[in-house]
Amino acid sequence: MAALKRYQHYINGEWVDPSNDEWIESYNPYSGKPWAEVPRGDAADADRAVSAAFKAYTSGDWPNVGATERGALMRKLGDLIAANSQKLAAIEVQDNGKLMAEMGAQLGYIPQWYYYFGGLADKIEGSVLPIDKPDTFNFTVHEPLGVCVAITPWNSPLLITAWKLAPALAAGNTVVIKPSEYTSASTFEFVKLVEEAGIPPGVINVVSGYGNEIGEALVAHEKVAKVSFTGGTVSGTRVYENAASGLKKVSLELGGKSPNIVFDDCEIDNAVKGAISGIFAATGQTCIAGSRLLVQESIHDEFVDRLITLAKTAKMGDPMSIETQVGPVTTPPQYKKILSYFDIAKEDGAECVLGGSKSDDPSLEHGWFVQPTIYTGVRNSMRIAQEEIFGPVLSVIPFKDDDHAVEIANDVVYGLASGVWTQSIRRALEISKRIQAGTVWVNTYRAVSFVSPFGGFKRSGLGKESGQHAIREYMQTKSIWISTAEEVPNPFIIR
Ligand code: NAD
Repeated sequence: MAALKRYQHYINGEWVDPSNDEWIESYNPYSGKPWAEVPRGDAADADRAVSAAFKAYTSGDWPNVGATERGALMRKLGDLIAANSQKLAAIEVQDNGKLMAEMGAQLGYIPQWYYYFGGLADKIEGSVLPIDKPDTFNFTVHEPLGVCVAITPWNSPLLITAWKLAPALAAGNTVVIKPSEYTSASTFEFVKLVEEAGIPPGVINVVSGYGNEIGEALVAHEKVAKVSFTGGTVSGTRVYENAASGLKKVSLELGGKSPNIVFDDCEIDNAVKGAISGIFAATGQTCIAGSRLLVQESIHDEFVDRLITLAKTAKMGDPMSIETQVGPVTTPPQYKKILSYFDIAKEDGAECVLGGSKSDDPSLEHGWFVQPTIYTGVRNSMRIAQEEIFGPVLSVIPFKDDDHAVEIANDVVYGLASGVWTQSIRRALEISKRIQAGTVWVNTYRAVSFVSPFGGFKRSGLGKESGQHAIREYMQTKSIWISTAEEVPNPFIIR
């Protein structure tokens, strides 16, 4: 067997082995075979990376790089990502099982985050305040926080890295990135571009390993000012608790159980496509999956028939092939978790109208493939309607009218995203206002942009990524007071 490709930590501009010399094998989800290994970092590695980032933040070149120049460096980094997009896409497909068709487009788009936030770097202005005190000049400046830790999940490593790294860098912070132990390779490949972009050593560091080992050590490190985490709600809650003891700033992008609501006045063909893209794209492994399809009773049966017809055409196969529409599940635990929900759905009495098992295609037997699956007769109280499955498993839930749709839509602990399919502007606006979710898509689904804020309500998270205000998540405001009085007045009273 060919030797596995070995990645190292990237700390202070250098490639280094993990202190304990322990490694994690990274698997190709299509072949089910290991192809690379990444460091199994520990607390000593966390300390090395954070110390390098802290040094780069407090001394050396970075503190003297002005905001305009930071923007220029970020644009260079964006250009380098674009120039290397095919290579990065291929690594992600191999490591993660994401489709080449999706990754090609995603890598073409990721540079935009670096361009947008690079452009924003020198547009963050403080104010001079009309202060109510005599002989006083008061103004504000917005400063970076210091060392920011970016922890990413396995489902879209490079996109989610961009969402965190771009605003953090634009604000002038230094960063330690910890990708998922299952999919670290693409982040290591990406960080090779940092030196060529001219970003000083220590400003961007990447370390890998398990969440309960190096992840917790990073969050707990006393020199870390902020943790930006994307992942599951259970891990996110743990990160929040650990960060609390150091009073660190925290952003959390967590799970979802998003309602995709189809009203009887919709354009049915479009809504069917929207339902499919909401749950089968990326093999359902997206936080924004429209995993609860709410369909108005009057069109329920017709809609489900059309949905099944289209879903049956989904081509499952090698994610490297541009023809493939549904790829493998990324990790073995995730594969097992999805299969376990097929039993749960049966016990709960849902009716399986498509799929409901692992793939029976012999050509896919080595990979972690599950069939695109649709359940009807689902009640919103069932576990398949309440719990994030994170796979291509759709729960179809009928509703009577607008109030009923909103009631079901909001009856979950999550509030990440939602879809509304209707031709009525009045209904689109009304329902959008009533849904408790950070994103509402009307007559579309699964659209994201560097311009538009993204983040969850309720247990789907805290804070926003993308959009102008995301940079403020990586900054703090200072108020500076200058007295122009000739004499200091009575020192025993507050001014
Ligand atoms: P996960 O929570 O298991 O892991 C995410 C990352 O956190 C990994 O890098 C992991 O090593 C690390 N981690 C885990 N426990 C930790 C701890 N105690 N301290 C520090 N780090 C820790 O999630 P996952 O399985 O990799 O990803 C799937 C989840 O991510 C899903 O729930 C999905 O909804 C969510 N997700 C959310 C968004 C969003 O923007 N809201 C986007 C993508 C994925």
